[in-house]
Amino acid sequence: MAARSEAPPVLNLRAHHLLCIQNYRGHGYSFSFDEKMREVIAALQSDSGETVRLIEGTDDLCAVCPHSRGSSCESVTPSLFDSRVFAHTGFVPGETFVWKLGKGTSAQPSAGFPEHTPEVPVMTKSLLKKCCCGCSWMDLCMEILS
Ligand code: SF4
Repeated sequence: MAARSEAPPVLNLRAHHLLCIQNYRGHGYSFSFDEKMREVIAALQSDSGETVRLIEGTDDLCAVCPHSRGSSCESVTPSLFDSRVFAHTGFVPGETFVWKLGKGTSAQPSAGFPEHTPEVPVMTKSLLKKCCCGCSWMDLCMEILS
């Protein structure tokens, strides 16, 4: 009997984390969150990148965050940031693609979304103002982008 090939691991991300990841400098919500964030960034920076699926609600990073309350965040603002990122990028919930962080933050479409070539936008001050108003990390992100 032929061995069944294992499906590649998929990283579940809520949309606004596409931006947080690009500016992350170790100011996480807890030791576990910081560890997970570093693990995720390392995977995204690897030669093959990582298969990412955009989801609504809490994701693989939220899973280790002290502010997570099951399938939602204790704060309502992250969902607002997600909807702004969806609106500004053209991504849709459920979209799955390979993302290699670093050179150009490129994304290649994967099965299921053949006609859409998503592109993860490079974090800029302009994008930050459009998507992240109300975030407690905004001043820090502005400083990082200066
Ligand atoms: S603050 Fe909320 S949205 Fe952000 S990582 Fe924690 S649970 Fe997720």
